[in-house]
Amino acid sequence: MRQPLVAGNWKMNGTLESVTALVEGIKAGMGSVFTAEVAVCPPFVYLDTVARLIQGTSIALGAQNVAKEERGAFTGEIAVSMLKDVGCNYVIVGHSERRTLYGETDALVADKYARVLEAGLTPILCVGELLEEREAGKEEEVVARQLDVVIEKVGIAGVGKGVIAYEPVWTIGTGKTVTPEQAQDAHAFIRQRLAAHDGSVAEATRILYGGSVNSSNLPGLAEKADIDGGLIGGASLKADEFLAICRAAD
Ligand code: PEP
Repeated sequence: MRQPLVAGNWKMNGTLESVTALVEGIKAGMGSVFTAEVAVCPPFVYLDTVARLIQGTSIALGAQNVAKEERGAFTGEIAVSMLKDVGCNYVIVGHSERRTLYGETDALVADKYARVLEAGLTPILCVGELLEEREAGKEEEVVARQLDVVIEKVGIAGVGKGVIAYEPVWTIGTGKTVTPEQAQDAHAFIRQRLAAHDGSVAEATRILYGGSVNSSNLPGLAEKADIDGGLIGGASLKADEFLAICRAAD
């Protein structure tokens, strides 16, 4: 049985005051979340603050990105050892905004994934197609390519140590969503791709859905066999809405 995971990706939002209020709001409502694992991914500069605020709770901490290098002269970058130091459990790698706005290639994403694993943290690998790729019927080809590069780099066992987030790029932050059936098809495709290497890894790996998820559309998605929770952007910035999503994933 895979434990559902709901991870809030706060992106580049918040102030010291607002992230403190958001965490306090989530903490206050955690008693109503029973089975889902809950994680928050604040901007780097707030990780330490949030780590302190969630101490003693079951809320996990994630980072939104990481450097592929271990340490050294890489101005502006953040090493995985630093993320570990401040208490991160998860690191998002290959988010579509990193891929499309900052030119992250499949190979770079695989390097980052490997670096996170090496440090003993859990990578959340984002995969998903652009609108024109879906319109051309290439969504499976794109997702397979994004997955295969990582499998090649860390092996299927390495992929089994992480979490996958399927996020059709055209649904992120746009209010557009795929139907639960379309999402399930994509998730089943991902699981089959893993199963071609190792059936038990495929069975155990959590595959989250992401893309304009909110408390109204998550229930329909979460009831699908291969959807194990969500990676939530905009809707994770309000404690009540985020908690409603977590409860729906329970
Ligand atoms: C995301 O940031 O991964 C995401 C899915 O964003 P949103 O929920 O805002 O579409």
